Amino acid sequence: NAAPLGHNVIAFVNKLQDIFAQIGSSSTIELPQVAVVGSQSSGKSSVLEALVGRDFLPRGSDICTRRPLVLQLIQIKRKPDGTDEEYGEFLHVPGKRFFDFNEIRREIQAETDREAGGNKGVSDKQIRLKIFSPNVLDITLVDLPGITKVPVGDQPSDIEARIRTMIMSYIKLPSCLILAVTPANSDLANSDALQIAGNADPDGYRTIGVITKLDIMDRGTDARNFLLGKVIPLRLGYVGVVNRSQEDIMFNRTIKDALVAEENFFRSRPVYNELADRCGVPQLAKKLNQILVQHINNVLPGLKSRISSQLVSVAKEHASYGEITESKAGMGALLLNILSTYSEAFGSMIEGKNEEMSTS
Ligand code: GDP
Ligand code: MG
Repeated sequence: NAAPLGHNVIAFVNKLQDIFAQIGSSSTIELPQVAVVGSQSSGKSSVLEALVGRDFLPRGSDICTRRPLVLQLIQIKRKPDGTDEEYGEFLHVPGKRFFDFNEIRREIQAETDREAGGNKGVSDKQIRLKIFSPNVLDITLVDLPGITKVPVGDQPSDIEARIRTMIMSYIKLPSCLILAVTPANSDLANSDALQIAGNADPDGYRTIGVITKLDIMDRGTDARNFLLGKVIPLRLGYVGVVNRSQEDIMFNRTIKDALVAEENFFRSRPVYNELADRCGVPQLAKKLNQILVQHINNVLPGLKSRISSQLVSVAKEHASYGEITESKAGMGALLLNILSTYSEAFGSMIEGKNEEMSTS
């Protein structure tokens, strides 16, 4: 199976991100990432897990996600002998590879408690996790606490405002793609997710609507008009998904089984038959990849000019300090070089290959 076209592009951006971090400029250059927003228990963590294809996020009917989790997926080569290894690495546990995904979940929970306490408290301090796997697209995803209205446990009385501010700090960045997650068993027209996404991205250039829980809608209703954008139009459109229920989780149903069940669900519902490109986690992954590639192409010129000006200021600094900043200046120049070469090649690539992308 060939890697999707976006693969090289996004791998490249991840590499840039690492170089940026090394020259200490990550705060001034915004690279695209994907954040999930929505009300509590709408299925945000479930959607992210399904996209990753592994079970590792704290999930449930209570508030589980209490700190932003920045999740960098990195595709590694498949081993010829079939003994593929997938593992995670936390920024706060340097040098340790987590091969057991249940242990990753426990570490997320423990690290959440360390910062936000054990009693439902919320903190805006990030947890950073890299997942290395042959089975993922290269994407940086951000799992965020859900919007909640009524304070519980140690939550302050202004919890809703705090969480909204935290969410906005991620999704207001013009380079952030927004997955606005709305459960189909709620009033879709009053979606918290679409409302906050609309504040951050009023023209809808970077918001994808995700409708979860299609399996537990009121009998006799369906999300067809919503998926078609007839209720709340969205430039980038909607994808409907069916994640695992709490019962599935209790019975340890795997994500793989859940994907098969999802496919069967859509196949057995005539109302979704002609909406195949808007239904299912694989479609969401594909859509994301395509949008990310386009998005990177759009932000490249800006990125280039910002690195240029950064380089000028580093060079000035260099001139005034002598040798000290030489390596930084060198890296900046190298980066700019890569970026120039790349954006030319990429420009022509994207013009010619859109068709292939949508059929990959
Ligand atoms: P979050 O708070 O938005 O991150 O939501 P979670 O991913 O933690 O999910 C909340 C609950 O809803 C969990 O019990 C999930 O099993 C359940 N859930 C999520 N998506 C679906 C779905 O598509 N169908 C069903 N039946 N349950 C779901
Ligand atoms: Mg969650």
